[in-house]
Amino acid sequence: MELVVASHNEGKAREIRALLAPLGYTVHSAAALHLPEPEETGATFEANAELKAHAAATAATMAALADDSGLVVPALDDAPGIYSARWAGPDKDFTIAMQRVERELEARGQTPTGSAAYFVCALSFCTAEGVLTTVRGEVHGTLTFPARGLHGFGYDPIFIPSGYDQSFGELDAAEKQRISHRTRAFEALLTHLKQEHAA
Ligand code: IMP
Repeated sequence: MELVVASHNEGKAREIRALLAPLGYTVHSAAALHLPEPEETGATFEANAELKAHAAATAATMAALADDSGLVVPALDDAPGIYSARWAGPDKDFTIAMQRVERELEARGQTPTGSAAYFVCALSFCTAEGVLTTVRGEVHGTLTFPARGLHGFGYDPIFIPSGYDQSFGELDAAEKQRISHRTRAFEALLTHLKQEHAA
């Protein structure tokens, strides 16, 4: 069975290859198959994951897996949400994105440190025939300013998961991975795929 990961990020493709190997999938990356990147026009994480998975499955004529993720701050009406990557601007500068989260909370009269927040990962699996299965993983916590720690990426340095004293930027990679939104979404998807295989 062949599968394409609808991401041009080789790191993601490598992780997914390891996760799906036990199910017997040969995993290709979208970059290796020269697939175009569709515009993320969906209004939700799930819609974006589905449109990427569907576009890749159609172009590659094989099963496809896509994800969409971001940081949700309820006090900011769920921003940056699906626009998490865009808040970092064309230079992908997350210092700017994290400062914007702090500034916008202050502008709404909120105390930024301690504000509730959560990461979301939507994962969508599309069969070669176009049948979609979409799952979601979340990790909840609070925000902290100024940013703390040098590990991870994106908004990790301002996010403290519930039950921890350290930010995702301070926790080591293995500990973050153990509880992350992406891991939870993968677990949900693997459970589903194993059930399908058993059926
Ligand atoms: P996309 O899923 O590749 O569209 O990007 C989502 C954006 O959300 C990333 O660029 C990050 O800024 C942010 N994000 C998603 N997951 C994480 C995470 O685990 N830590 C920090 N930031 C994240």
